[in-house]
Amino acid sequence: LEATRESLASQGVHTLLVQFTDVHGTAKGKFVPLAQIGTVLRTGAGFAGPSIWGTALPRTGPRSEYYARGDTRTLRALPWMPGVALIVGNGFVDRAPFDACPRQVLRRATARLAERGWMLSTGIEPEFFLLRRGEGGRYEPFDGADRLDKPSYDLKSLPRQLPFLHALRAALEAAGLEVEQIDHEDAHGQFELNFRFDEALRSADNLMLFKLAAHALAEQQGAVFSMMPKPFANQPGSGLHFHVSLWRGGQGLFAGEGGRLSKLAEHFIAGVLAHSAALSALAAPTVNSYKRLVVGESLSGTTWAPAYVAHGPNNRTAMIRTLGDRFEWRTPDAAANPYLATAGLIAAGLDGIDRELPLPPACEDDLFALPLAAIRSRGIGLLPQSLGEAVDALEASEVMHGALGDTLHAEFVRLKRAEWIEYARHVSDWEHARYGALF
Ligand code: GLU
Ligand code: MG
Ligand code: MG
Repeated sequence: LEATRESLASQGVHTLLVQFTDVHGTAKGKFVPLAQIGTVLRTGAGFAGPSIWGTALPRTGPRSEYYARGDTRTLRALPWMPGVALIVGNGFVDRAPFDACPRQVLRRATARLAERGWMLSTGIEPEFFLLRRGEGGRYEPFDGADRLDKPSYDLKSLPRQLPFLHALRAALEAAGLEVEQIDHEDAHGQFELNFRFDEALRSADNLMLFKLAAHALAEQQGAVFSMMPKPFANQPGSGLHFHVSLWRGGQGLFAGEGGRLSKLAEHFIAGVLAHSAALSALAAPTVNSYKRLVVGESLSGTTWAPAYVAHGPNNRTAMIRTLGDRFEWRTPDAAANPYLATAGLIAAGLDGIDRELPLPPACEDDLFALPLAAIRSRGIGLLPQSLGEAVDALEASEVMHGALGDTLHAEFVRLKRAEWIEYARHVSDWEHARYGALF
């Protein structure tokens, strides 16, 4: 402890940012002077539990205190906040691990894998927008001046955003992430930054670190960093694809014979497909998410977001794109809580393995081009088309209930159903324009 404190102090650190993640996937935390590091590691930084979404903690009494107890593996200086080091906390209540803390939920899931000698690795791929406030308070692309039909890989806007992208890359590298690539995505003002895959818990922590850095650094450029899944109706949305592989020791367990996936991988994927509806609530957790996961091609072309419960070799139009030694889960969007999405994924995969679920036939077609009837006739189902539908599936799922635990399962369903109902009751401009004088 003393050594850790001294080493941080010698790097000029005087303050810890004790951070945790709430049910919505939002980073929360507080500053604690470095001198208090002993308390942060032994007891945790204290928070008023009822002020944190999804905890269902009482408003009074000792059980209402929520502690984020620092995990020393996550300690690192934050380059964009000189003097401050991040430490990610695990939720504790009454001195016991708090079952409804999303990071604890993922730790329980990875512990189930560890019992079998397995380790799940994820590569999480954030897509995001750089926005600005336009007239009337709506957001618009920070830089969409060129208005190309297809801005994928655009080399006019990308270099213009170099001050932000360079600062973000440098900050992430200094904080210990290995940045692999940065590109302009398919929509105006949309980018993707990839950092190297890692053990599932670390990847989720890394994504939260990425978001913290990106929010702060975009603000410095006068831009708004946005992980909203679908900011613009006629432009692609932001996915948060997961590249998934399972390991024992240093050996990958998903690669089978001759470039094919192993039986274990097939069962795992079958589980993810079988639980796709309930999993959508965790992977695509907002009202807006379901404007990304839409059936059919949009006017501006393919959005590359999945709508069908299918898998296929290198098929970017399916929910699962299989690659020789891993698969890409394409359902999650940028608003997903990475801890909960990963925990749900693990529970679904383990259920597939334990029940030896058979993998449905692979799909090699362009699912955006096939008519719905042809897709249905192959037995391929649709992902939920609204948050309400996904939440109903999550509520009914025993496997997801088991993964989230009683409190978080109930809270997630309660909060997300309320979000859905509030939206469903909202009367929009579109309705006024369409129906106002019609009948
Ligand atoms: N933006 C797409 C999505 O919403 C993904 C594009 C890609 O494959 O990189 O999932
Ligand atoms: Mg992409
Ligand atoms: Mg991808």
